[in-house]
Amino acid sequence: MIPLAVVVAVVVGVIVVVVAVVVLPYLLSSSRNRRVGGRGFVQESRLTCSKCHRPFDYRWIPGAALTAVRLGKSRYMACPLCHKWSTFDVWDSPPPRTEPPN
Ligand SMILES: [Zn+2]
Repeated sequence: MIPLAVVVAVVVGVIVVVVAVVVLPYLLSSSRNRRVGGRGFVQESRLTCSKCHRPFDYRWIPGAALTAVRLGKSRYMACPLCHKWSTFDVWDSPPPRTEPPN
């Protein structure tokens, strides 16, 4: 017989993990989609490297990063074109297919 406290602790732990891994990135995605006109869970940003000044498209998931250092709405990561590290503003950069406002 498993004690009730253990069952409650496991259930609460699973809920916390689900909220952290699924709900939080989903809410952040929805929030950014409303602002920049994107869609979906995985976000896309057209970024321009500050070192080589070439644009590239970057796919990312809010709240998650395996290949970059997260700094709030920015990420410190290597440019895929020149491989130099710099800070990119992924949150406020528009998605690739969106034309910049005139
Ligand atoms: Zn570069």
